[in-house]
Amino acid sequence: MTNKLQVKHLHSRSSGWIERSLRTVWHPCTQMQHHETLPLIALKSGKGIWLYDQDGNRYLDAISSWWTNLFGHGNPFISKAVKDQLDTLEHAMLAGCTHEPVVELSEKLSALTGHALGHCFYASDGASAVEIALKMSFHYWKNCGVPEKQEFVCLENSYHGETIGALSVTDVTLFKDSYAPLIRNSHTVESPDGRKAKEGQSANDIAMQAANRLEALLQEKADRIAAIIVEPLVQCAAGFVMYSPEYLKRIRKLCDRYKVHLIADEIAVGFGRTGSFFACEQAGIWPDMLCLSKGITAGYLPLSLVMTTDRIYSAFYDTDIARGFLHSHSYTGNPLACRAALASLELFRLHDVINQNRIISGKINLALESLKQHSCVRHFRNRGMIWAFDAVMTPEKQATFPRRFFETALKHELLMRPIGNTVYLMPPYILNDTDIEQLTEKTITVFNEVIQA
Ligand SMILES: *Cc1c(COP(=O)(O)O)cnc(C)c1O
Repeated sequence: MTNKLQVKHLHSRSSGWIERSLRTVWHPCTQMQHHETLPLIALKSGKGIWLYDQDGNRYLDAISSWWTNLFGHGNPFISKAVKDQLDTLEHAMLAGCTHEPVVELSEKLSALTGHALGHCFYASDGASAVEIALKMSFHYWKNCGVPEKQEFVCLENSYHGETIGALSVTDVTLFKDSYAPLIRNSHTVESPDGRKAKEGQSANDIAMQAANRLEALLQEKADRIAAIIVEPLVQCAAGFVMYSPEYLKRIRKLCDRYKVHLIADEIAVGFGRTGSFFACEQAGIWPDMLCLSKGITAGYLPLSLVMTTDRIYSAFYDTDIARGFLHSHSYTGNPLACRAALASLELFRLHDVINQNRIISGKINLALESLKQHSCVRHFRNRGMIWAFDAVMTPEKQATFPRRFFETALKHELLMRPIGNTVYLMPPYILNDTDIEQLTEKTITVFNEVIQA
């Protein structure tokens, strides 16, 4: 019998290494069989905006490696901070012990919320932060004598991670259908997607309409609802749905009125991605719980956390262990990861990153002008350091569009992965004028090539 796991090599970049990877590494959210024809990129190194493969080809990382590498790759300042920490304390458990990196990071992040969210609970990945926020909300209400508040609300097209609890507040059809029997139901309410605006309507009108739908649900069921979870300003994984900050303002008020927690999942949009340090700042609100991960260590090490208020923290503070928050992960608050995060925050300060990004963002918008006018482009949209647009094509072409775009982009030294027919850019914050030119010219060239094929 032939070994079914033996992988055919139809691509030029084939090498022993790639073959071994396909045999032993099960890649995330991937139909492995597609790699019989779709080349894996065998990465060797990274420097700045570029990733290099073992054959010496380079790729401009236009999506910051799944939105994590805020300062590109191989940043000497962060590398040094991590190396120094490595020689001091690489890891220690955070139960019963503490260390300087985790304290400093908690203080700095808390200060960045104006101390509205002064308590930091750590984990290692985004989905775990979401699990923590959901459990914390439920447990808070239980400790407050309202244990019947057990239900959650999420938005249409929401994405909050792929563990079973996180999937219960994720509205992605493929995931939902595939794992439905395992998943607890949540209430899904209308997304304030700005693209829904019809002739004569504004994004704010859509925001108000969506908020009214939420209010109708809360009027009826708030006594059973613990929290609503949202991705502030941009629903990234859904295909970069952008919406008005008015929605956040409005739902903050609704959450207060109906005694429901507001969980802001800023895992993708935090750390300057939408133009302010936290996306919630643009609405002038703070959530009850804020989930952070992805950009937090600038792509260096896995780290996530949930930040919360004095009020929520106090509800757990007691002599009774069962009233305490019952959650832990082995690598909670890992010192190396905290040190990387601190170095990244220092870069924000040293280089005035939020303001510099405004300049970069303006230049990219100018350079992409021709795409805005393109006859096959709909809903060109931008917020801070995120750009997205929807490609128009026949349904037959649409099925293979993301793959064709990915492959064509590689030929032009560009790493991009469209979501459905939505093409997006989420570049590192370190682009100089030449980089901007390369990024935008390559994007336009690739789009034209793919759309005309
Ligand atoms: C990526 C993401 C998550 C999940 O984070 P992981 O680290 O991949 O588990 C959750 N929420 C949002 C908004 C994300 O973008």
